[in-house]
Amino acid sequence: MFEVVKTEGKARRGVFQCAHGTVRTPVFMNVGTQAAIKGGVSALDLKELGCQIELSNTYHLHVRPGDDTVRALGGLHKFMRWDGPILTDSGGFQVFSLAKLRQIREEGVTFASHVDGRRIFMGPEESMCIQSNLGSDIAMAFDECVENPARYEYAKASVERTTRWLERCIREHRRLNALPDAVNPHQQLFGINQGCTYKDLRIHHMQQIAQLDCDGYAIGGLAVGEPTEIMYEILDAVEPYAPKEKPRYLMGVGTPSNIIEGVARGVDFFDCVMPARNARHGKLYTWKGAINLKNEKYRLDESPIDAECDCPVCRNFSKAYLRHLMKAEEVLALRLCVMHNLYFYNKLMQRIRDALDAGAFAQFRAEYSGVLDERI
Ligand SMILES: [Zn+2]
Repeated sequence: MFEVVKTEGKARRGVFQCAHGTVRTPVFMNVGTQAAIKGGVSALDLKELGCQIELSNTYHLHVRPGDDTVRALGGLHKFMRWDGPILTDSGGFQVFSLAKLRQIREEGVTFASHVDGRRIFMGPEESMCIQSNLGSDIAMAFDECVENPARYEYAKASVERTTRWLERCIREHRRLNALPDAVNPHQQLFGINQGCTYKDLRIHHMQQIAQLDCDGYAIGGLAVGEPTEIMYEILDAVEPYAPKEKPRYLMGVGTPSNIIEGVARGVDFFDCVMPARNARHGKLYTWKGAINLKNEKYRLDESPIDAECDCPVCRNFSKAYLRHLMKAEEVLALRLCVMHNLYFYNKLMQRIRDALDAGAFAQFRAEYSGVLDERI
């Protein structure tokens, strides 16, 4: 299902196969939380933006419209008109960050929906069942997300529970895939490494879950407010214990520089709401750094966002026009800006892959890591 075709240092060029196609890695997953990309971008647009794999959210789709509804409509691919690979996250992160009045027990978590306050129970089996109903290509294991900084003893107990939950996820996932009416009987399952910022817990947990033979391994609970250097240190510590022949996914990361540095530390999959969220606020990425579109200096600027960019937005519209749309609060401003930023991220991954293929990733990293995060 996954093959590393080339390496440079710890960085890997890979090919990942799943039921809805082939993904060339390193890859950035484009986030469509509620089966839509925020900013008025549809799955049809994603094709034009160079997206290889879309990510949707188990918690949100369970709360609304309900995974039983999506299943009755033929699964998420058919529902949102995306025929490429889809990863669904487990809902764990949202249960622990969005939902109110949580109660954590060994069986799972009871919480109040952030939409209507309805009491919902979600444990490993429920998360697997929801993701099976959605029919994604990759399901994520249900884990406990602990806020940083956390006390060592709590983090340790939480990691142990996350391992027990992963064992339950694996059993339930196998059972659901084998059902004759499974939406996607070839769904794969990724386990998630936790352990807050404690290197010994991280390493021990990765060693434990590596034995459970998941289809891939994610590193969760990072990029949640800790300094970037700590995140890199954890990645450096954990990487040697992540199975070499399986894909690695760094959840919720990050800026263009974070991604380049993640690739340099052996990561294959990334996802982040940042490019779309920043676009909605007028922060746009270029190959020379990030710009603020709302700036007065762009009032009469007839050039595109980035002269080097060949996205549908840069091919047609000027900064002056886009700035006007944003000032006038036109919905079109959000859509066009989100399209540019997502294209930029997908292009960034393409250029990383090209550099790896050419044996020139170190050069690429030296040239762009840092520069791309700067404000110009
Ligand atoms: Zn562009």
